[in-house]
Amino acid sequence: MSKIKMVTPLVEMDGDEMTRIIWKMIKDILLEPYIELNTEYYDLGLVHRNETNDQVTIDSANATKKYGVAVKCATITPNAQRMTEYDLKEMWKSPNGTIRAILDGTVFRAPIIVKGITPLIPTWTKPITIARHAYGDVYKNTEMRVSKGSKAELVVTDESGNETRETIHNFADTDGIIQGLHNTDKSISSFARSCFNFALDVKQDLWFATKDTISKKYDHRFKDIFQEIFDAEYADKFKEAGIEYFYTLIDDAVARVVRSEGGYIWACKNYDGDVMSDMVATAFGSLGMMTSVLVSPDGVYEYEAAHGTVTRHYYKHLKGEETSTNSVATLFAWTGALRKRGQLDNTPELSEFADKLEKTTIQTIEDGVMTGDLVALSKLPNKRKVNTEQFLSEIKERLEKLL
Ligand code: NAP
Ligand code: MG
Repeated sequence: MSKIKMVTPLVEMDGDEMTRIIWKMIKDILLEPYIELNTEYYDLGLVHRNETNDQVTIDSANATKKYGVAVKCATITPNAQRMTEYDLKEMWKSPNGTIRAILDGTVFRAPIIVKGITPLIPTWTKPITIARHAYGDVYKNTEMRVSKGSKAELVVTDESGNETRETIHNFADTDGIIQGLHNTDKSISSFARSCFNFALDVKQDLWFATKDTISKKYDHRFKDIFQEIFDAEYADKFKEAGIEYFYTLIDDAVARVVRSEGGYIWACKNYDGDVMSDMVATAFGSLGMMTSVLVSPDGVYEYEAAHGTVTRHYYKHLKGEETSTNSVATLFAWTGALRKRGQLDNTPELSEFADKLEKTTIQTIEDGVMTGDLVALSKLPNKRKVNTEQFLSEIKERLEKLL
């Protein structure tokens, strides 16, 4: 069999620790024997980020803008302990934060569903994808403690120096607290377009919810921007694709989500997304089965696993002990990126390879062959725990039969 060729390069962002080990195994065992991998390689491992003063992260994001598709390995976000462990020049920022700021993207997280692992909400038979708006609100707030006898006001000074004031509260007889929040039309519009584009891409309904009945200007602005952009730019495309845009109140949305069977994208304001993505991920089972894709409003895609570098397993690996780390989310980051590359380049054999690789991965787990995290969850009677590398070899065996 001749290898599949790639027309345009894929941006490859390597990473850290156990996921860096898995990254190489996936390429060696499941990709390079079948594809003439054409990637532009950026080493985002912490050692190289430190050597380049983090320039490599910026370069990789700019390359993603240029080529349109990237696949990223999990990376360490340094903290005080990592400063000594890696002898860092600076506490470099989170690469995901840097990349997201350059691409102006929205993160979509979706679980991979397999037979034998039932979500804690058993009616969820299809994935629920959460899109979290990653700008503003309580994450960029200004807060104060206020002492008794004070009056708190909201003051806006316009370009010409005119002030508009509103009283927040008169703290006549007690101390208290206040908080200033903001968002921008620009960021909300980008978020809306990323969500509408992604819904069209995966052909799933889009749900959005806020508390506009209580927050008649702030949350209502989110609702209006989504609706205006939908009506002007997406209503026809949604109709053609046979999907819907559905707006409701956040509390109604939560009730509907719990009663639903899944199979849609749930766009959330920043705080709702923070809380609800952890709730949904936990209910679906394992972090090792959660994928993540960053989508920019102009249609650039960066695929990754939702989990981190699995440090605890890496330290075991370094001591020469056997690991059983789940590679599915990292593998699906690769297949997502390869499929998208195939679609954009009009090379269907690349997209078909990605489909087959996903199918055989799911089949492997449904045959009872899985890593430790899933053994603990699976209800299959014939389940068998394999190590990190054996799992990939089992996928390969099944893939060979399908090619
Ligand atoms: P983590 O790497 O996601 O791992 C937390 C725990 O979840 C693991 O110890 C393991 O539990 C389980 N787990 C996660 N992924 C797994 C997998 N693929 N297979 C099996 N078990 C898995 O989170 P963390 O330990 O909080 O963070 C480690 C490093 O990753 C940090 O330096 C952090 O900055 C970084 N991080 C990066 C990203 C990213 O690049 N997107 C995201 C999050 C965190 P058991 O130990 O119980 O087996
Ligand atoms: Mg959270």
